[in-house]
Amino acid sequence: MKKLFFLIASLTLGVAVFAQPGEAAPDSSWKKIFRGSSTIINDLVHTKLEVKFDYPKARMYGKAWITLQPHFYPTDSLQLDAKGMEIREVSLVKGTSKKALKYQYDNRLMRIQLDKTYKGGEKYMVYIDYISKPNELEVTGSNAITDAKGLYFINPDGKDPKKPVQIWTQGETEATSAWCPTIDRPNQKTTQEMYITVPAKYVTLSNGLMLSQRKNTDGTRTDYWKMDLPHAPYLFFMGVGDFSVVKDTYKGKEVSYYVEKEYEKVARRIFGNTPEMMQFFSAKLGVDYPWQKYAQIVGRDYVSGAMENTTATLHQESAYQNARELTDGNRWEETIAHELFHQWFGDLVTTESWSNLTVNESFANYSEYLWLEYKKGKDAADEHHYQDMQGYMMQPGNDKKDLVRYHYASQEDMFDGVSYNKGGRILNMLRNYVGDDAFYKSLNHYLNARKFKTGEAAQLRLSFEEITGQDLNWFFNQWYYGSGHPKIKIDYAFDDAAGMVKVIIEQTQKTDKVFKLPVAIDIYQGATKQRHKVWIENKSDTFSFAYSKRPDLVNVDADKVLLCEKTDNKTAEQFVHQMKHAPLYLDRREALEFFNKKGMQELSLGLQDKYPGLRRMAIDRLGKSKFAKEAAVVESIENIARTDKDRKTKAAALRFLAKTGDAKYESLYRQFISDSSYSVAGASLEGLEKLAPESAYELAKKYSSDAKGPLGEAVNRIIIGKGLESDFDFIAGRFDEEPLSQEKLTSVNQFGSYLAKINDLAKVKKGIDAILKFRNAIPEQYREYTDPMFKTSLDKLGKAKGSEIATYIEQQFK
Ligand SMILES: [Zn+2]
Repeated sequence: MKKLFFLIASLTLGVAVFAQPGEAAPDSSWKKIFRGSSTIINDLVHTKLEVKFDYPKARMYGKAWITLQPHFYPTDSLQLDAKGMEIREVSLVKGTSKKALKYQYDNRLMRIQLDKTYKGGEKYMVYIDYISKPNELEVTGSNAITDAKGLYFINPDGKDPKKPVQIWTQGETEATSAWCPTIDRPNQKTTQEMYITVPAKYVTLSNGLMLSQRKNTDGTRTDYWKMDLPHAPYLFFMGVGDFSVVKDTYKGKEVSYYVEKEYEKVARRIFGNTPEMMQFFSAKLGVDYPWQKYAQIVGRDYVSGAMENTTATLHQESAYQNARELTDGNRWEETIAHELFHQWFGDLVTTESWSNLTVNESFANYSEYLWLEYKKGKDAADEHHYQDMQGYMMQPGNDKKDLVRYHYASQEDMFDGVSYNKGGRILNMLRNYVGDDAFYKSLNHYLNARKFKTGEAAQLRLSFEEITGQDLNWFFNQWYYGSGHPKIKIDYAFDDAAGMVKVIIEQTQKTDKVFKLPVAIDIYQGATKQRHKVWIENKSDTFSFAYSKRPDLVNVDADKVLLCEKTDNKTAEQFVHQMKHAPLYLDRREALEFFNKKGMQELSLGLQDKYPGLRRMAIDRLGKSKFAKEAAVVESIENIARTDKDRKTKAAALRFLAKTGDAKYESLYRQFISDSSYSVAGASLEGLEKLAPESAYELAKKYSSDAKGPLGEAVNRIIIGKGLESDFDFIAGRFDEEPLSQEKLTSVNQFGSYLAKINDLAKVKKGIDAILKFRNAIPEQYREYTDPMFKTSLDKLGKAKGSEIATYIEQQFK
């Protein structure tokens, strides 16, 4: 799973999440609970489902035939998860006859008394007739079910004309049991058949292959989906709606993209690299894509990022991008890789418990790096690596958490910057340490040893040990079963008389922990370098290297893989040498950051960098530096604005020029304001805003019908900034139409500020309604993170407009 919404929301609002003074101390009783894997009493073997839907009531009628067997010890009872269901019948199936079984049900668990004691491996089948009521799940004391409906009806009564009618499911972590009675644990696997009855105008998607379709006399159709390879219940999926299905293939298997009609034409530009990804990952892992087909579907109002349901990945609406957005690059590419890689790490081999989530999520996270490295080059991958490392560092508390964690308050807490970002960086270090061939061979060993079963970090270690012949307890104890990361200070002492350089590396983290870190040190004479491999393993280590001529640069962690915070006391000359001769993205980035910090002219070297991300960074830093007005700098950036092939870099250059307020660029802005890239058009509109505000306002209105991303932001800012009451319908309409997204979250404050400026209180109330409609569309489990932001914006508005509005907000915001 990729929890974009949650991750970013908690990052931006991180501070607000923590307890305020005066609040009750949080419940810490979970610290005493060991969260191992669930004891297996009965094994799921096969699950057959027949379902049909009551759209107006948002209910599902289900019949389940579940085949099970005692795992080892004999048992006469069966416990099934079934959340908030109305149970109509529970019986044992023997051939063609059924026999009623006694059971107890507390709205969450069914305790079923079997007809006799079954021996280990002795199969039996239970039949359950039930109704799922996901919108009526009740909160009852300790049985609170607030976080997971499992089954989502989108616009089921069709009353929202702007939204299609859809159904989709979300199983992870343990929500499949809201629509299918099962043993809802990741250490269960079952084959599966689904008969899904829907209005004939809709298409369906589920796991495995659709083997047949039957038209019914009542205007419905029943699709029969079969999954004949075992997988975990949280990976079950159903999707129903009016989708166009765009088809590709990989080695004769269907690869398909389920999108709304509007996106049919661009579906391949969004998802079309999927077959190549399947080829790439299959080849690297030495395990061919293991399932029958691979489909991807985009669901409305899905606020998690994406979910790797076996053979049927669900994406949120941010996946949708039109042709103009794609001009700036496919923002969903990494997520597509992430979910696909889960089909091996997560679906084929599944974490045995949420405590070991790393064997799912760290791999999926790292696959983003692997795909970027292969498809867009090492600089792009290393930039992603750097951003992910920052993401881990920025979330408070991450440094206190082990990667494999047997104590947590809720299993949802495992989906954090440690299991994802840090875990991905740890795999990058492991790969660097054992080497590429051993890394992939070990992954191959793990997948083959554990396929269609579960995995935990210990089994991963055993596979790496088996392949490399090395004991890797030190690595796993440090990174998987330990927390934190090293803080490293590097100093250099050159002694020309002795012909010797000493490299002194200190670990300055405040904990007692000392990390063991194998690193490469490159010693440069001009462009040539000599590599030395060393182990950092003490609080302070000194490494000495002889030289005949003083080296131009000593580059510690030359592969730039260490997960650490670093103070590197190189001289300015050494960083200049690093910028010019060291090969990696992070080599150059570190040098540019140094030049920026020290106010050095060499910051402009970044403008010529081969990697667009670093050119953009240099433009951005220069814009805030004392060199911003220097003729040579401005000329170089003007040249980038006119000629750079990378649209986002071109846009950054235009934004730089916009800040100069120089009227000579007006024609340049007018030339690029109709560029197909929203970034370039948006930056041009910004430039014009300063020089010709009236004209910019008119153009903002003109272009508003097709304005997303940076152009949309510029349009909103200009029109809202003008603050005309007569623009209310236009502004409120744009806000309302924006899909549920991180961007929309950040636009709430802007919209609130506009409302504060207008006089018609009826309109202000309409605006508040639109804000709260958005807030209420965010599922409850995310509101802990998002509500403080709504509250701040609305309080400000209430204060600005007086008691009538303040009271209105108080009444509506619950
Ligand atoms: Zn994931």
